[in-house]
Amino acid sequence: MLIIVITTLSQAYAQPDISQVSVSSSLLRKHVFFLASDSLSGRETGTKGQLQAAFYCTREFRESHLIAPFRLDSIRGSFRQTFHFTISEVALFGGMRTYGTNSTTYKRHELVPIPLTATDSSKVLLGDNVSGLIIGTDLKKEVVVVSAHYDHLGRVGGRTFHGADDNASGTATVLSMAALVDSLAQQGIRPRRSILFVLFSGEEGGLLGSNYFVYNSPLPLNQFVCDLNVDMVGRIDDEHRKKPNYCYLITDAQGKELQKAAEVANQQSVNLVLNRGGYDVENDPKQYFYRSDHYNFAKQGIPALFFTSGEHADYQKPSDTADKIAYEILQKRATLIFQTAWRVANQE
Ligand SMILES: [Zn+2]
Repeated sequence: MLIIVITTLSQAYAQPDISQVSVSSSLLRKHVFFLASDSLSGRETGTKGQLQAAFYCTREFRESHLIAPFRLDSIRGSFRQTFHFTISEVALFGGMRTYGTNSTTYKRHELVPIPLTATDSSKVLLGDNVSGLIIGTDLKKEVVVVSAHYDHLGRVGGRTFHGADDNASGTATVLSMAALVDSLAQQGIRPRRSILFVLFSGEEGGLLGSNYFVYNSPLPLNQFVCDLNVDMVGRIDDEHRKKPNYCYLITDAQGKELQKAAEVANQQSVNLVLNRGGYDVENDPKQYFYRSDHYNFAKQGIPALFFTSGEHADYQKPSDTADKIAYEILQKRATLIFQTAWRVANQE
């Protein structure tokens, strides 16, 4: 009797080895070329281009049979979460437009939910986060978040900032991971923990979308076991010209376990060179850990790991275009992130 019970349990929880499964290269390419195309005008938050990108991501999540996590009412769910923000002419980033509340210039790590007041003379705009959920099996109440921002800088001075690396590459990674998780689910292979895929807008204006998300989450934050965030994973920085098979993993003291999980997942799959590139939280002059959406999770005590390939000559320029992405290496990094998520979603 006992033996039968044990067999049943191990059958229920044992997962097949999928360490050789990769994220689709053709899907990654398709998503990057669409998101970074002229027709989306640089996906600036609050513009038509951003909304078109949101519709595109929504459609992809729906086609991947994800569950819409935001509640419209007691019956209907939505893949989209809309938030308000104000735009003002505060020059923070080299004279570019930025976002905030009236003339308040805030540091990213001091962001609070954005108050909207009747006296606010700034223009009120809308941004959207897009998210989809796959429900796990025996540990389904524990949720692995996989995130990226899909917005970029839009059009400035009559020129489109395409944002192929920043961050069509990360958005494509998340969308392609969702498609892979779906195809595994079709074969009866589901993660033990649930996985929530989230694509933020408002990142370029100060992590606005992720800030709103953590204060208005569709699930209680204490169910989130981690955030794996992807921002700029499609290029090769100067230090790695000759050794392009690399990825930076950046975290803080809370994320050490996650980093280990990523290292094991990497060894068993794509075998990239992983390092922190001197971007340790405390000593990094570039302050990378504070500069993308995972920081809003880390602030809430949720372990976060940031995947990036770093900066390059086209960073935040109109020339960050889809033809310059290193797709072969993007595929390896996307596979690393998938394998990390899968490991974290299934380990004891
Ligand atoms: Zn970015």
